Amino acid sequence: MYDLIIVGAGPAGASAALFAAKAGKKTLVLDSDQSITKKAWVENHYGAKDISGPDLVSTGLEQMKKFGAEHKAGKVTKIEAAADGAKAVTEDGTFEGKHILLATGMMANVAEESGIAVKEGSEPKIQKVVDVKDNGETSMANVWAAGTCANKSVHTIVTAGHGAEVAINIISELNGERYVDHDILK
Ligand SMILES: Cc1cc2nc3c(=O)[nH]c(=O)nc-3n(C[C@H](O)[C@H](O)[C@H](O)COP(=O)(O)OP(=O)(O)OC[C@H]3O[C@@H](n4cnc5c(N)ncnc54)[C@H](O)[C@@H]3O)c2cc1C
Repeated sequence: MYDLIIVGAGPAGASAALFAAKAGKKTLVLDSDQSITKKAWVENHYGAKDISGPDLVSTGLEQMKKFGAEHKAGKVTKIEAAADGAKAVTEDGTFEGKHILLATGMMANVAEESGIAVKEGSEPKIQKVVDVKDNGETSMANVWAAGTCANKSVHTIVTAGHGAEVAINIISELNGERYVDHDILK
């Protein structure tokens, strides 16, 4: 049983994964390698003067793996409710987590096909998004969403930040108290 399963390894998913794994949570990231960020050249991400989308995505993967997050290639076909968490069904098997975070970018189909509430997107070119509460929770218990699929502005700094924000909410729920991750200058 994972503490957190994340669907999607773009800026939202990998940012969430690095926070969760760094907090000591058993974290699995399932990804179909279709990140729109891999088409981008980015000059508006705070702290990076300029960076290619592929480099941003691969650096994010390295960061989350450094803290112990597992990465598996593959497509999630369905999310199912479970007694004490939720399940992610893939072509290669089913994975169970206490929480699941959808970070599926422009694709809200897996949420919709799983019976999770979706709505019309309000950002340019984004048709459907997962209907989330302010803290990132969806209509299915223990399932959350972050980034583009949660109707956030389609920019890497925003989606990465939202992935971190929702991960902090999930970590806080697992810990039973608000979580803060501050390292001191070395
Ligand atoms: C051409 C282009 C240029 C851009 N330029 C900029 C720019 O200059 N500055 C800027 O800030 N932003 C830019 N962006 C936007 C930026 O890439 C996105 O806003 C943001 O990074 C999206 O992050 P995300 O994590 O929400 O989604 P994504 O990066 O799309 O990641 C979603 C991930 O979820 C995975 N996934 C989806 N469904 C499933 C499933 N069922 N099972 C498993 N995995 C799944 C996908 O494979 C993907 O890896 C640009 C985008 C494009 C297309």
